[in-house]
Amino acid sequence: MKINLIKKTDLVIIGGGIFGCAIAYYYSKNNPDKQVVLLERNELNNAATSRAAALMTMVRSKRSYIPLTMETFKVAKEMEKELGETLDFKVVGMMHVAASEAKVKDLEKLMEIAKEYQQEAYYISKEEAKKKAPWLELKEAIKIGYVPNEAFCDPYMLGTFFARCARKHGAEINQGVEVLGLLNKAGTVIGVKTSEGEIHASKVVDAAGIWAPILAREIGAGVPMAPVRSQYWITERDENFPTDSPMVLLPDAQAYARPEGGSLLFGIREGKSLVASPKDVPKDISDFVFSADEGMNDLLENGERLARFFPGFYDIGIKYYVAGFSGYTPDSQLVVGEVPGTKGFLVASGCCGAGISVAGGVGLGIAEMAADRVNPFDFSEFHISRFGKIDPFEEEWLNKCAAARSNKVSG
Ligand SMILES: Cc1cc2nc3c(=O)[nH]c(=O)nc-3n(C[C@H](O)[C@H](O)[C@H](O)COP(=O)(O)OP(=O)(O)OC[C@H]3O[C@@H](n4cnc5c(N)ncnc54)[C@H](O)[C@@H]3O)c2cc1C
Repeated sequence: MKINLIKKTDLVIIGGGIFGCAIAYYYSKNNPDKQVVLLERNELNNAATSRAAALMTMVRSKRSYIPLTMETFKVAKEMEKELGETLDFKVVGMMHVAASEAKVKDLEKLMEIAKEYQQEAYYISKEEAKKKAPWLELKEAIKIGYVPNEAFCDPYMLGTFFARCARKHGAEINQGVEVLGLLNKAGTVIGVKTSEGEIHASKVVDAAGIWAPILAREIGAGVPMAPVRSQYWITERDENFPTDSPMVLLPDAQAYARPEGGSLLFGIREGKSLVASPKDVPKDISDFVFSADEGMNDLLENGERLARFFPGFYDIGIKYYVAGFSGYTPDSQLVVGEVPGTKGFLVASGCCGAGISVAGGVGLGIAEMAADRVNPFDFSEFHISRFGKIDPFEEEWLNKCAAARSNKVSG
């Protein structure tokens, strides 16, 4: 089918995952006099976004993500009102189980951070914790923190809400249109070449997920991230997994879990994460087969850590295996903001496995920057050139990014 694209606009967004859709939403809502065009080569929210476990962790040691996630919670409510429908966030709370002196120290810091951001958080006893999550073995636990307002969501639905609301505010959202290159004139990006012709624009945002480095490279920008596999498993149903039991973070096991309709969804960090060059990942991620057998090998290799807290681990049946790539950086921070040395070009990528939680803040911040207004958030830790000049396709770089995920202890 021939798609008739407009030829000139204020903003072009490349990629219709949750970042692209969120940016389109804020830009169209806050700039009724301006036009935004989003281009997605496949279907909206069908790549990393639809595969997320979608923990929306607000209280975390990484302060830079907290205001961004708070914005996601805020905008979710606004969009629910706008559409007269519910996003059905599951506000089940988060339990942080510390089972070593080092993790107790981390937990104490985390509880202070919760206070700083006016988030309710308190310690609970092992008995209370066991009542909330009967599958847990807490013999080794020293301290347990509980943050009652933490939630998880349906990530596809959240991405779709952004896109639907953006359309209501006049955004033009196209699926099946691929961006083939950037139009660059003397250091200024002035538009994009697409499978359906050229579009000229005052600003272009590269929100192409794990593929973001490919287009940016054309103008000499090295987007500092790499596609690294995340994976999780969903057990069969069991009465020990109540649907309203809290999410659980087990930093001593580098594992997390949350309820999933009477089953348990859980993830555990592997010793060595699978990484790929952005150029080697197929354009349609469904063409990439993540081997469930390899996943199972990782699980068995590392499962002992989890079994300390989940004694039923070796007996419970596994119903689903879910894996996908998301963009990791060596310091586990986002890659969002202006591309130094270039005008008219912004990047929103490098989600480090937290893109669903931070989508609101990333969307608002980038939309404001694209409209030449002040970004209400501090993006200084996410700066694109913070690692100096890098080659995003080189092996040593890819391994550095993969190591960041292997060392991750939060959900
Ligand atoms: C297994 C797994 C578990 C996760 N768990 C969580 C979690 O618990 N909490 C959390 O917050 N996050 C989680 N994440 C991370 C989260 O899914 C991502 O951070 C988020 O979806 C990134 O969104 P995005 O828009 O950047 O990328 P994507 O959703 O991948 O979207 C990018 C889009 O760009 C399009 N595109 C690329 N190139 C072009 C082009 N040239 N032209 C047109 N379109 C293009 C692609 O087709 C794609 O649709 C998880 C991820 C995975 C894989």
